[in-house]
Amino acid sequence: MHEASIAAGIIDRLLEHPQLAGRRIRVVRLKVGRLSTVVPENLEFVFGAIAAGTRVEGARLEIEVVPARAVCLACGHAFEIEDPIFLCPACAAGRLRLESGRELSLESVETED
Ligand SMILES: [Zn+2]
Repeated sequence: MHEASIAAGIIDRLLEHPQLAGRRIRVVRLKVGRLSTVVPENLEFVFGAIAAGTRVEGARLEIEVVPARAVCLACGHAFEIEDPIFLCPACAAGRLRLESGRELSLESVETED
């Protein structure tokens, strides 16, 4: 599963980070774009499974879903989209610039002391 490699990557970053050495991770905050291919529920599930037995075990994963926004290159109309295939709702042009919606980023981490 796609989410498993993402969860493993996040956990590796946390375990390898020198400033987090020896500290238990309590909360991990992520931003996931609406159009990213990550399913938050799947990511939470595999994250918990992969974290078992490490300093990340039991950490709460807080996932903020970032809305997907686009700007029409023909008329400048800015709007939110739910799906990667779309036309401008104002002028029906297909050339659009995606402003957000594909991100996947580790925002912050909380540790126990
Ligand atoms: Zn337009």
